[in-house]
Amino acid sequence: MKKTKTFKYEEVEGFAFGSWPFGQPKLFSHVYFVDGLLLDTGHRNMRKDILATLGRLEVNQIFISHHHEDHTGNLQALQQHFKCPTYSSAACIELMKAPPRISFAQWLTWGNRGANFQLEEKEGRVVTTNYQFDIIPIPGHAIDMVALHEAEKGWLFSADLWVYKYIRYFMRAESMYQQIESIKRVLQLDFDVLFCSHNPQLSGGKQKLREKLQFLEDFYGRAADFYHKGYSPAAILKAMGLKEDIGIQLLSTGELSTINMVRSVVRDEKSKMD
Ligand SMILES: [Zn+2]
Repeated sequence: MKKTKTFKYEEVEGFAFGSWPFGQPKLFSHVYFVDGLLLDTGHRNMRKDILATLGRLEVNQIFISHHHEDHTGNLQALQQHFKCPTYSSAACIELMKAPPRISFAQWLTWGNRGANFQLEEKEGRVVTTNYQFDIIPIPGHAIDMVALHEAEKGWLFSADLWVYKYIRYFMRAESMYQQIESIKRVLQLDFDVLFCSHNPQLSGGKQKLREKLQFLEDFYGRAADFYHKGYSPAAILKAMGLKEDIGIQLLSTGELSTINMVRSVVRDEKSKMD
């Protein structure tokens, strides 16, 4: 089933796209539009609806928060439609030249995307007629991920930095330590609205991010303690009272799992000791 929801908050239009082959979609990818700027492009499995919904907008620049398939699924289609510049971080440009393969679970939920060679690097700031968006690097969930911060308005376009107050799965490449550092960096800024790519929070956004930070710091601290006592990742998972969702682990061939969260802590602790 395919579902599109829209909302408007101040001058920002939000578009949520969800699709799932076996019933109601639970996960939505969000695209935001403000003052001629389109932020991200949604996922491939919603292309028809996305082109129909966004096609009428007067887009004069597109900005990509990071290379994941739910943000870049219609990049090329929208580049062709709007014929405008498309920007991202330098790391995103490199990753999009040969995007990493996605798992079956990701293909079912979002669909794949092709390589892209038309992205241009943007550093520092994205400027529109009425607003200025500072580009804030927020690596961790993805190495190339950035947020956009409109200081006057108190808006933070936070990509996948928040999503929910806790998290149960990591992809293989995620770093918990970097996520913690990124949230701390963002918490220095002034904002109240969290234009999250999956779960927007139109008020109290800062508090939401503090809760996520607390969760990650607790998780990290406990996992690191067990690691330094000599526990293996599997033993740490058990000692923390966590259980793997085998369905998700299998469907994603290990790309998404709880043990990836533990492994990330172990990796981060090892690299601290180097
Ligand atoms: Zn992502």
